[in-house]
Amino acid sequence: MGALLVEHAFAKINLTLDVLGRRDDGYHEVDMVMQTVDLADVLTLEDDPGGDITIDASVSTVPLDERNLAHTAARVFRMRSGVERGVRIHIDKQIPVAAGLAGGSADAAAVLRGLNRLWAAGRPLAELAEWGASVGSDVPFCVWRGCAVARGRGERIEPVRHTMNAWVVLVRPPVFVSTGDVYAALTRADYSGAPRSPLMKAALVAGDFEAVRANVFNALAPVTFRLYPEVRRVAQRVQQVAQVPVYMSGSGPTLYCLLPTRGAAQRVYHALRGFMREVYLCRFLTAAPLPAPAAGALP
Ligand code: ATP
Repeated sequence: MGALLVEHAFAKINLTLDVLGRRDDGYHEVDMVMQTVDLADVLTLEDDPGGDITIDASVSTVPLDERNLAHTAARVFRMRSGVERGVRIHIDKQIPVAAGLAGGSADAAAVLRGLNRLWAAGRPLAELAEWGASVGSDVPFCVWRGCAVARGRGERIEPVRHTMNAWVVLVRPPVFVSTGDVYAALTRADYSGAPRSPLMKAALVAGDFEAVRANVFNALAPVTFRLYPEVRRVAQRVQQVAQVPVYMSGSGPTLYCLLPTRGAAQRVYHALRGFMREVYLCRFLTAAPLPAPAAGALP
């Protein structure tokens, strides 16, 4: 058996997501505050000196071939670093798939960080983040983790250093949402004149929980609600039961509530478990190096 290591791939939520316009290359110009939460896939990487890149996963809902972002990341790492070795990647999937939580991007980022250690390549995170941009727009953020404003397609990262410890209850409605369709359905009326990220950044740095909650914004939420009315219905139901505001992450369909204490979050978690199958309790992860994940199950 070859050398082996474990790397965690943490999910993110969007605290803000402003779309500023459409670019000539077809992508939208976005401005988002992204926050890492402690819901994580667990990746095991095993060195395979004479072999190729192989993937297996604990679920059947992700591709195991070149279409898996973890596979793409391993290819990019090999090409950019010049290391000619193989790796066996096992993904223990805990992050809901195609949910707006950047699960695939987090796996890709974990492969870049993990191979850097496994093959003792010694590349700085900034370089891994740059390589990650060629894998996907959210990968650079997932390489850094913590909290950041992401601009451009999402690949330009400005770290936000704060120590706020909020709790997050995630609810994944049983609806398939196509990110491409959501962006394609955006109209000029959905664009923002000025992004909310400066207000959110100030609220986080000040540790002002109510100001954070007051400034959560997602320009894609009304679009996803228009295209998938079931997501809106679930959001309304969650709001009634939780008695706190409900937000959407990325292009959805995952919805979330922010709570100031673990006790308040546990009450919401249990209330929602009464009628939703996929509910997760997690919290903000703010500082690197990050601790082992605690999410997925109740402490
Ligand atoms: P995006 O908003 O970028 O679409 P997401 O966070 O909503 O991402 P992901 O869980 O990353 O959703 O999955 C998006 C798609 O990527 C899925 O359709 C899935 O088949 C594919 N995919 C490729 N690799 C992975 C991976 N390692 N984990 C999850 N999905 C992956």
